[in-house]
Amino acid sequence: MVEYHGSQCGFCTPGIIMSLYALLLKDPNANKYEIEKALQGNLCRCTGYAPIIKAALSLSESGGLQNDILLKQREEIEQKLKDMSDGNRVEIISEKGEFFIPKDIADLVLLLEQKANATILAGSSDIGLWVNVAHKDISPIIFIANLSELRNISQTKAGIEFGACVTYSEGFEIIEKYFPHLSDFWAQIGGNQIRNMGTLGGNIANGSPIGDLAPAFIALGAKLNLVKGKIERTILVEDFYIAYGKQDLQKGEFIKSIFIPFIKESEKHAIYKISKRKYEDISTVCAAFKLEIKNKKITKAIFAFGGMAAKPSRAEETEKALEGKTFNEENIKKASLELPNDFAPIDDVRSSAQYRMLLAQNLLYKFFTEQKNEQ
Ligand SMILES: Cc1cc2nc3c(=O)[nH]c(=O)nc-3n(C[C@H](O)[C@H](O)[C@H](O)COP(=O)(O)OP(=O)(O)OC[C@H]3O[C@@H](n4cnc5c(N)ncnc54)[C@H](O)[C@@H]3O)c2cc1C
Repeated sequence: MVEYHGSQCGFCTPGIIMSLYALLLKDPNANKYEIEKALQGNLCRCTGYAPIIKAALSLSESGGLQNDILLKQREEIEQKLKDMSDGNRVEIISEKGEFFIPKDIADLVLLLEQKANATILAGSSDIGLWVNVAHKDISPIIFIANLSELRNISQTKAGIEFGACVTYSEGFEIIEKYFPHLSDFWAQIGGNQIRNMGTLGGNIANGSPIGDLAPAFIALGAKLNLVKGKIERTILVEDFYIAYGKQDLQKGEFIKSIFIPFIKESEKHAIYKISKRKYEDISTVCAAFKLEIKNKKITKAIFAFGGMAAKPSRAEETEKALEGKTFNEENIKKASLELPNDFAPIDDVRSSAQYRMLLAQNLLYKFFTEQKNEQ
């Protein structure tokens, strides 16, 4: 970084070095595209990225980190950590608070029966802010992200079941394979670091009206598998959101998995995320559209939006306006005039209400222009 003039004020440099270090550990010959992807979550506002990328390329072209002295230590530390694991529950209790790591899912159920008020901690990419920014006391904490039963990805005839603690990065390959039209959107969530930590269950459970997975999963007809004690129940993601900050999740209950049905041949589906920056930014509006078309008529429409209401919501009046109609420009334009009957978005730092509404209408039109030739 010094040789290539990759650092100026220095504020971002440590983060950039760590991102590149992590990348080159995994992929010693990383190319320019992979380097850019690794830096999505690192903002430099003075040097610019060209010298930083040149510095990274110089390392990958000369064999990566093979001479790095920390590599050997890393293997030793990893082994020591593995040796410490005895398969038991971890409990750390002090006057500052209580922290638990259940040994398995049955132990998690038991712990949540005893500590129904506990904070369930997964990737911590939302909860970290409650502590760093809001100084909230989140004890007792139950950490679940290491539970293998919550990290499974399995396939059935009807779709894919993701354990709640699958991270965006872990889920990417499957998304690319079975839901390829979601790949660009998936790669737009957070930056690389957030995608490595953030879990699907955490995003859904957090319940933010601008969380990205909710509109995507609502439009797909995804379902949640929830567990409390001996009771397991399945609900549509759509029904999970009750009001702003209020989800259908009882005390002591957790999300075990998320089931996403495959798209049928008769269905068209797309999702668009509009934010001020392409990466590492929260949505201004996120729109997911799914249409079922049989004999040239729209038989079912599901349009789900984030950023348009106090919770992730469907545009039911707009959907109704299309049902039974032909998928053509006139009908789409007419239906988009119903969006103000579905939503009264707010003005905030990300956008004005008027801009949000125009965006939502234009995204529906974009969906039409992209899909019209594929009938
Ligand atoms: C820099 C940055 C960029 C981000 N970019 C985006 C983005 O582009 N799009 C987006 O949607 N979000 C984004 N986020 C928000 C966040 O990363 C995601 O919502 C993430 O998926 C949360 O998952 P987590 O595992 O980190 O959750 P945590 O922070 O661990 O938990 C979040 C909430 O979910 C609950 N919870 C977690 N797992 C479960 C479970 N299995 N059952 C019940 N409750 C559970 C927790 O108790 C908590 O209430 C960003 C955050 C940061 C810091």
